[in-house]
Amino acid sequence: MGESEGVCVTRFLLMYPPPEPFFIRATKVFYGLSPPLGLLYCAAVLEKEADKVTVLDFSAEPYRDEILTKALKGVDAVGMTVVSTSVHQAAHLVKVMKQHDPDLPVIIGGPHSTLLPEQSLEETHADISVQGDGETVILEIKKALEGETHLGEIPGVTYQTTTGIYHGPAAQGNDSLDHCVFPARHLVKHYVYGREYNPHLRAGDFTAMLTSRGCPYQCRFCSRGSMRLQRYQTRSVASIIDELHDIGQQGYHHIAIVDDCFPANTKYAHELLDAIIKEQLSLKFSVTAARVDLADRELYEKMRQAGVTHIQFGLESGNQDVLDFYHKHTTVATIRTAVHQSVQAGLFTTGSFIFGAPFETQQHFNTTLSFAQSLPLHSVSFLPLRYMIGSALWQHAVAEGKIKATEYTVVADKKRGLGRFTQEELMRYCASAQRAFYLRPAFVHTLLKTSLRNSDMTFIHSYLSVLFSSFKKNGALKEQGGEKSGP
Ligand code: SF4
Repeated sequence: MGESEGVCVTRFLLMYPPPEPFFIRATKVFYGLSPPLGLLYCAAVLEKEADKVTVLDFSAEPYRDEILTKALKGVDAVGMTVVSTSVHQAAHLVKVMKQHDPDLPVIIGGPHSTLLPEQSLEETHADISVQGDGETVILEIKKALEGETHLGEIPGVTYQTTTGIYHGPAAQGNDSLDHCVFPARHLVKHYVYGREYNPHLRAGDFTAMLTSRGCPYQCRFCSRGSMRLQRYQTRSVASIIDELHDIGQQGYHHIAIVDDCFPANTKYAHELLDAIIKEQLSLKFSVTAARVDLADRELYEKMRQAGVTHIQFGLESGNQDVLDFYHKHTTVATIRTAVHQSVQAGLFTTGSFIFGAPFETQQHFNTTLSFAQSLPLHSVSFLPLRYMIGSALWQHAVAEGKIKATEYTVVADKKRGLGRFTQEELMRYCASAQRAFYLRPAFVHTLLKTSLRNSDMTFIHSYLSVLFSSFKKNGALKEQGGEKSGP
């Protein structure tokens, strides 16, 4: 990155790199899970002062070098989200950008930069790395690139020059989430998102929003706590209602609530849902990460009344000793009650389970599968345990010398002293549990009943898509947690 005194930096390209399985490979059918909200918050702030902001989401369109180089024409600076599972992809994209223009400033942010600000610059060869919420500092970075201020004065910024790597002051969290603008959703309206909820969704139908940031819990396999620079915070109900009106006016009709954990505060959830019901918004919602211990029958029914159609629970296990090992702070009985109440309220209810805690035996897996089959779940995923950077389990394994600090995601494997089964065995158990769950007449019967009761055949479509994915090679290696902002 060269010196930039007196230069105007007014045309920005923001990018989400391709996730691992699709890297540099076009596929016929392509859609994204969920729009990149972090980038869209930055875009909304930039749009106030920049001449042009564009967004490329390579999780929602196939990546090709030519697409990137074409998009770089006339661009003054690039911003990119980096997650720990896409560092190599991000490094490739930076290489292409620097071949195009060696002086083009490249700013990276997101979970990997937050966890490893200096290392993320060394790995990707980007120029500037941001810890925490990019929208709070992006305009300061723009000013510094224009020579008005200095990068070294900006909280949470790490940058590299020809002489070394330097840091600004410590990053600061947001005092209030209500200072945030709304994400610039119009910049990704041409992408298709959310088809796992409804295969008929088209571009411009589906978007996502945050009602809170952070999570007050500390499950041992989860890395989200280490990526947040601030405590769990909720937005004001009034601000969310304003945003929902804005979303409705833009033509979206299905919204994923992609909070780390919703609801994490039951009283707040009641207030929010009451307000949504009162506004009579004709919007549908999916809750992408819920706990079983924070809602009751009344809240699930209120969710349904407010327009929630889908809810995904992190259930993890049907064995109490495994739940306790993960510090999940839930019980098998609580899981059973919550799933029944959610289904009775008419929600398409998904549960995810993890196989591979260090002491787990085949008997544990069988118990979890039988437990899952005894629940009226509409969809399940069985996933091998992954040690993810920033999680307590990962840190412990690194301290024991079983994982290198440069290995950001490691699947449990007895060859490495991580559990009783090899990675391949775990994958086989997961795939076979998945099939054993779905290929039951009782399951299909329950699903049909729920679909007819709700007059909603999208439940059947969702079932078929998850069933087919369970037969695909490596289908069991979807993301643990599943959401775009993973580590
Ligand atoms: S798994 Fe969910 S509840 Fe547990 S710490 Fe992570 S976000 Fe919070």
